[in-house]
Amino acid sequence: MNESKKNTPAAVSPSNFIRHIIETDLAKDSFALRPWAGTPGPAHWHRHASLDTAKIRTRFPPEPNGYLHFGHAKSIHLNFGLAALYQGACHMRFDDTNPEKEEQEYVDAIQSAVRWLGFDWDKNLYFASDYFDFMYEAAEYLIQAGFAYVDEQNADEMRQNRGTLTEAGKPSVWRDRPVNDSLLRLREMRQGLHEEGSMVLRAKIDMASPNINLRDPAIYRIRKAEHHRTQNRWCIYPMYTYAHPIEDALERITHSICTLEFEDQRPFYDWLLNRLAEGGLLDLPLPQQIEFARLNLTFTVLSKRKLIQLVNEHHVDGWDDPRLPTLVGARRRGFSAEGFRLFAERIGVSKSDSWIEFSVLEDCMREHLNEVAPRRIAVLDPIKLVIDNYPLDQEEECFAPNHPQNPLLGVRMVPLSRELWIEREDFMETPTKGFFRLFVGNQVRLRYGYVVKCVSFEKDSEGHVNLIHCEYLPNTKSGNPNAEPVKVKGNIHWVSCKKARDVTVHLYDRLFSVAHPGEGGRDFLEDLNPASKKTLIAQVEPALIEAQCEQVFQFERHGYFVADLRHSQPGMPQFNRTVTLRDSWKK
Ligand code: ATP
Ligand code: MG
Repeated sequence: MNESKKNTPAAVSPSNFIRHIIETDLAKDSFALRPWAGTPGPAHWHRHASLDTAKIRTRFPPEPNGYLHFGHAKSIHLNFGLAALYQGACHMRFDDTNPEKEEQEYVDAIQSAVRWLGFDWDKNLYFASDYFDFMYEAAEYLIQAGFAYVDEQNADEMRQNRGTLTEAGKPSVWRDRPVNDSLLRLREMRQGLHEEGSMVLRAKIDMASPNINLRDPAIYRIRKAEHHRTQNRWCIYPMYTYAHPIEDALERITHSICTLEFEDQRPFYDWLLNRLAEGGLLDLPLPQQIEFARLNLTFTVLSKRKLIQLVNEHHVDGWDDPRLPTLVGARRRGFSAEGFRLFAERIGVSKSDSWIEFSVLEDCMREHLNEVAPRRIAVLDPIKLVIDNYPLDQEEECFAPNHPQNPLLGVRMVPLSRELWIEREDFMETPTKGFFRLFVGNQVRLRYGYVVKCVSFEKDSEGHVNLIHCEYLPNTKSGNPNAEPVKVKGNIHWVSCKKARDVTVHLYDRLFSVAHPGEGGRDFLEDLNPASKKTLIAQVEPALIEAQCEQVFQFERHGYFVADLRHSQPGMPQFNRTVTLRDSWKK
């Protein structure tokens, strides 16, 4: 990707409510970043000199427990796009506070997916686990300041005492234990002296709050698990809701943009950061959380849990299956980063949940591919046509434009000979009304070649048509200014049998056959589209042998296809259908 395209702000235009908030903040200068005071926080912090120059700071904070999906693409475009638009910075931060499910493999895959989308975080790569020391110190501080306590109720008791939406919670018997007791217990927890589940550290806020998230939420728990970065240094881990605000504040994030389900967590986010700032552990100004509606896309699922299930139960062929809405899958599908950019622009951001039609995404891909994809000829369902009056061993050159709207892309040679593969559906024994292609007695143009007249056909022993006889009109070659002007209504594509190559073609379609998989409590697996993948052997023109891996072509009349060479069998290139030329799902 060329440099100038990196981190371009286009994806967040036109204006939206988040831009409005940022512009108001910038006008008030409320986020002017002061030099980092440098006392609290991890020591390595001071290395990030660039921290003081950005006007705003956003972050993309995936948990490295799976592959990124199309929903993440929306969040990536939003966060990196806003940073670029306002001369800010967007941090790539791994929210790796949950040791059990996280792996280096995901860390690597996530970085490569963000880069593939065209974004770059420069030196702003962070890991929440780098802040574990600070988070722990902050926890001790909260205990000392009377804002946290170690609770030794078991999980059941905690649940029962939490109350309900209409009923206040009951304070734990440990809530008012002496500060030193809690401190001692927390240190013992850290030393591994207690069992998982035997106690937790809780914030001390308000057991009667109408917002259940403020009823003394847990902030540290015991997990005797190895972490992919800190190994066995810790056996207590911060809860996500405690860790995330601290990560944002330490990195001096100005606008912490997340999806709507975190709206009810915002009071705790603010409570926590304000307590730590009052205690001198954090500097002002503090980050502010802003929620937006997550992407919901019809005919697919965007929840990591469901994606994992599809992969583990082999409903698809791995994380990069071209039918999955993962970014690695999209890449093998031939979807482009530019298409995602268009998509992000088109769907915008809002505060209310809604569904985006899958066809909107497909249209974005079509739009981009239509501009850039070279045209090629492929016969997907071949049947042989023989030109009876064409010399047996003759071969001649025809020329086809690589792009009809862009002559700069030039032409290529397609060889013509006596025997050709054409599309089975381009012939009809008994033509229906309005069928202008091949039937006995009719004339069509072989695209970029001659006009031919169908004279007869043959059938195999089972009665299937297997050979079509034609005669060509020698003075009708395309591109010849002196050619005889013969009018025909049909125009068909073809490849020379002698020079064509076999390739494997996967025709991918939507993974689910209904717009809202699993709607109404149904098992979402029941809605899988049984015809989401068809494999066939096609005949393609020789120029396709030079296809590069991940290069996308338009196969004339068929759609866009990507060369999936990494998954090809030796000597048998594989092409995946990215998208058809038109939306075939429209009612
Ligand atoms: P899932 O809900 O699919 O399990 P997640 O939210 O657990 O995904 P994270 O790794 O926590 O995945 O997500 C990283 C970022 O991507 C978060 O800021 C989250 O808000 C955002 N994100 C996740 N899913 C979507 C979505 N469907 N639309 C927009 N943003 C999303
Ligand atoms: Mg999440």
